[in-house]
Amino acid sequence: MADIIDKANDRAALDLQRALAAAARAAPPLPYVGQCYNCEASLPPSMRFCDGDCCRDYEKRQRAEAMR
Ligand SMILES: [Zn+2]
Repeated sequence: MADIIDKANDRAALDLQRALAAAARAAPPLPYVGQCYNCEASLPPSMRFCDGDCCRDYEKRQRAEAMR
């Protein structure tokens, strides 16, 4: 059972890493503003998003706006 939970956590960490790496490749670097670009939650100064979901949501919105 613990193995399954470990694997799920590894998987989530990997997804987050991939999302952040994809964001870094796709967009010009965003300045660190101390809050999440997606939901505006307070973050440590070295982070731009709270998690991979916020990162993806932000990307999606940027793409939608670029198409207008
Ligand atoms: Zn967020």
